Amino acid sequence: MHQIETKCVQSGYSPENSQPRTLPIYQSTTYKYDDAAALGKLFDLEADGHMYTRISNPTVAAVEAKISDLEGGVGAMLTSSGQAASFMAIFNICSQGQNFISMNNIYGGTINLFSVTLKRMGIEVRYARDDMSDEEMDALFDENTRLVFGETIANPALTVLDIERMAGIAHKHAVPLIVDNTFATACLCRPFEFGADIVTHSTSKYMDGHANVLGGCIIDGGTFDWEKAGKYPELTGPDESYHGVVYTKQFGKAAYITKARVQLMRDFGCTPQPMAAYLLNLGLETLHLRTRRHSENALAVARFLSEQEKILWVNYPLLEGGKYHDLAKKYLPDGASGVVSFGVRGGREAAMRLMNALKLAQIVVHVADARTCVLHPASTTHRQLTDAQLEASGIGPEFIRFSVGIENADDIIADLKQALEQI
Ligand SMILES: *Cc1c(COP(=O)(O)O)cnc(C)c1O
Repeated sequence: MHQIETKCVQSGYSPENSQPRTLPIYQSTTYKYDDAAALGKLFDLEADGHMYTRISNPTVAAVEAKISDLEGGVGAMLTSSGQAASFMAIFNICSQGQNFISMNNIYGGTINLFSVTLKRMGIEVRYARDDMSDEEMDALFDENTRLVFGETIANPALTVLDIERMAGIAHKHAVPLIVDNTFATACLCRPFEFGADIVTHSTSKYMDGHANVLGGCIIDGGTFDWEKAGKYPELTGPDESYHGVVYTKQFGKAAYITKARVQLMRDFGCTPQPMAAYLLNLGLETLHLRTRRHSENALAVARFLSEQEKILWVNYPLLEGGKYHDLAKKYLPDGASGVVSFGVRGGREAAMRLMNALKLAQIVVHVADARTCVLHPASTTHRQLTDAQLEASGIGPEFIRFSVGIENADDIIADLKQALEQI
């Protein structure tokens, strides 16, 4: 078993004699068979192999194998975006008339998906706060609850999920814990080691790392006992769309991820292109180096900001004295990603002036790539909200999300310094 750094570089693809050394791009929708019976076996899920690129492709499969190895899972499926991964991870085991529990401080795009679009499908989300007692959490569950969902490091709230505690609560109610590990990545935290059952990612962030390619991923830890839980007939009973296949019987520990692929990916088709998987793999090869550098730079920036008169507050999970510092020490000992948030004295106007004065840090909607960038949620992603609504969602008019890149930390700090002098 290799260390994580070696897995980033080497896992997923090992060429045989005189084959290409680097992962080839199999730009083909289609595959060839020696006879009709061989193809029939694939369609019956009785043989391994590729049948159509909507469902699987050799380039995509190599990157899936690498990410599964990084997280320590039994299998993974890439999707065309992080949104598609979040949707499929839930919909795979939660149907009309059922509900699930989600932490309330997750990514805004995921909130929309859960609160608006899943609701239209008859699926109810129940939001939990991390300051709730176990009894308050227990009260959210009923016999139709199918899973618990949270983010390792929430975007942009930067709270840290107590994965062990949430896994304990979920398992007490015989449901799995799904963790969106986008900001941490497997290099900084591996949720399966703390009891999570399924991990999701937006690979568009640090895993690609260069703001080049959208993507998502679902990884199955293979740990959850669907049969014992006794309430997941979609996994433990026959699938009529494969004339009666029972996923837990035929695929054992990989039942969940196999169903996600052969049923949901077949039907929804939010498949990554082979070229996208190839670009993602290039990013993954340096992920271990970048996550360290992002985190070191972010901690230096957070410390600098916390000493500035014109800054009201700074939030970075590993910053000394913060509310989530103890959880960050436990779950993110090697770094807490490159994202820092802070409030500027003087509210919305001062925040906008600071942003406009920055030179190295550029204004973009994205986070988590190699280049330092900055966003003022109140005037962009949260623009439609009033100041009162912003305050209620924890994103005040003074709130700035600062995504620290892998440049030299002194240059990033110098940029902030000159901008602060101008306001
Ligand atoms: C960006 C993001 C998503 C959505 O991913 P896309 O690739 O943009 O679709 C989901 N979860 C988190 C935590 C994110 O930051």
